[in-house]
This record gives sequence, C-alpha cells and structure tokens, in this order.
Amino acid sequence: MQYVAKYPPLMDVIARGDNKISFRLRSGMQVDVRLLPPESFGAAMQYFTGSKAHNVALRQRALRMGYTLNEYSLADLKTEKPVAGKTEEEIYAKLKLDYIPSELRENLGEIDAAEKHALPVLITLDDLQGDVHMHTVETDGKNTIEEMAEAAKAHGYKYMAITDHSKNLAFANGLDDKRAVAHIQRIREANEKIDGITIFAGIEVDILADGDLDLSDDVLAQMGVVIASVHSVFNQEPAKMTERLLKAVENPNTSIIGHPTGRLQLRRDAYHFDMDAVLAAAAKYKVAMELNSYPDRLDLNDIHLRQAKQRGVKIVINTDSHHTSHLDKIRYGILQARRAWLTKDDVLNTLPVERFAKAMKHGWN
Ligand SMILES: [Zn+2]
Ligand SMILES: [Zn+2]
Repeated sequence: MQYVAKYPPLMDVIARGDNKISFRLRSGMQVDVRLLPPESFGAAMQYFTGSKAHNVALRQRALRMGYTLNEYSLADLKTEKPVAGKTEEEIYAKLKLDYIPSELRENLGEIDAAEKHALPVLITLDDLQGDVHMHTVETDGKNTIEEMAEAAKAHGYKYMAITDHSKNLAFANGLDDKRAVAHIQRIREANEKIDGITIFAGIEVDILADGDLDLSDDVLAQMGVVIASVHSVFNQEPAKMTERLLKAVENPNTSIIGHPTGRLQLRRDAYHFDMDAVLAAAAKYKVAMELNSYPDRLDLNDIHLRQAKQRGVKIVINTDSHHTSHLDKIRYGILQARRAWLTKDDVLNTLPVERFAKAMKHGWN
C-alpha cells in the first residue's frame, strides 16, 4: 500500500485502509486499488468488472445453486468453504455458465445466452483488415496520402480508404467536384506506387440540410468508398432529420453513413431522428452504419449497434484519423463493438479486399 501511494501521477488520496486505497490522478480520474490474496483474484476481477445489474443477477443465481458470491470467492452456502475464486473462468464454470466476457456483463441477456452456450464470439482487433475513414493534408488532416498508407500498412491492414471532406465543410478546406477528381487521381497514383496495401479512393461527403449529397453523382460514382455524414444544421426537427438521413441512405452512391448520430462526448448531444426507420432503410439498401472509434464520438453507441445488428445492418469500424497516430484509436471502436455483441460477421471491414469493395457498392451477401 505504501508503494502504491508513491505512484508519481497521484494527486491526492481520498481514502485508505489496510487493503484498499482510493486516489485521484492529476488527470482527474479516480483510481481504487484493492489488495487481495491470489486465490481471490478471479472473484475480485469478476466483482469489480461486472455492472451492478450483472452482479446482482449472478449472486442470485449462485444463491439458487447453494453458493454465495463476493469479491473473495464463490463459496458453499452452508460450509462457507470456497469452491472457486482464483480465476473468473472457474467461477462462471461452477455456476454452469460459459465464460462471459467483461464487456457483456450488463444483465442484458448474457447470462441466459451463457447458459445456452449461445454467447457470440466477439470481434477482436485482429479481425480487422482495414480502416476506411481518414483525412489528409488535402483537407483538415495532418499527413499525406503516402504517410497515411505507410502507417496503415504498419498496422497490418490490407486496405484503407482516403476519405477527405467535401466543400460544404469550408473551414476544413473541403473538396469541390474538380478538386475531388484530382484527389482521386493522386490516390490512385499512390495505390500504384505503394505495395502491400490497397488504397481506395473515397470521400466523406456532407449530407446537406435537404438530404442531398455535397458532390455530383458523377464524381461520387468514381469513389470506392462514399461515407455520407452530417456536419451542419444539427438542430432540425426529428421528422426532418429522419427524412434527411433516409434520403442519404437511398442515394445509390452512399456506402456508409458516417458517425450517424453526431454526438460529441461531453460537448454535443446526438441529433434526434427515428433510428429504427433509418436502420430499416439501411438494411434494405445495403448501406453500412459506421462505428466511429474516435473517442470523442464512439458513434454509433453500443445500444444502437445492437439495434443495427438485430435489423441486419452491417457495421464498418473506422478511426476518422486526421493524423497517422490516430489509427491506434481503432481499439476504442473494437471495445465498443464488443459491448454491442458484434462478431466478425457483423463488420464489413473484416472482409478480404475484393468482397469489401463489393460491399461498398451495396453488395453484401
Ligand atoms: Zn465527419
Ligand atoms: Zn471524418
């Protein structure tokens, strides 16, 4: 405990006991450290990572089976003798459940699914074959096409897309038709020049207030990946916003709806629209929904992602990188996708390149 208290970024200690210390970091984040014997490690992990709702349901299950469950162990109700606790896996196994990954511990059906051996095999970072939302110096990014490509290659990706902004986003120096065509040419040249990764010519085109896209159909049709996003006029009536998004989904050039609810965490709420209607249209027209991994966005959220999955809508997990270093943020998207029960099959950018290219033209299987 004395050793922990010497941790340099520690600002002030909030509470301290024999086996527990709570402190605040300089960043403002609170950290609780618990000391437990090794044989309780799994029980403690389970206790502190599950949501309250999950833990209550699990404790009730334990009681029905003649056990008690707390942060020290799963123990026999009568003899109080521990029967599991060293690992989380052995606790779930004793409760006749498949191991429930921590992201699913919300009491939203995971206990039932674990009992029936019906838990999803959650997506992992290794499943992703590409990242298809990123910007370059041509608009508001900080790196060139070539620099982004080398960084994506270093990530082990097989493909990527350069998706700079369109002209409606004037402060980002968005592209008009003429510049977009020249940019496609540059992206194709880079694709020729750089081995080991396929670079799709793409665009993040603004969905204008009336639902039209910000570039001509002819130019959009030349793109391998068209992400259509709302970047302005967020305060429309829900019916109007729904109509706007439906029109974007129905546009034959749209591959993906970018950061579909527009929320910026701690700064801007999601705009209001009929999510279910938009998802139904997306399923019908085979337009994917983005899971934007940028920590400020994390959009769609886990609840909407699960709704999309139930509707049969496919997801694309992207970073929306404006710098080579942002490609790492994909891990936040993966964590959120796992919370939403997504598997490899739900996410299009796990596909090999030819099938992904087809999927971006409404060709899901
Ligand atoms: Zn955007
Ligand atoms: Zn973007």
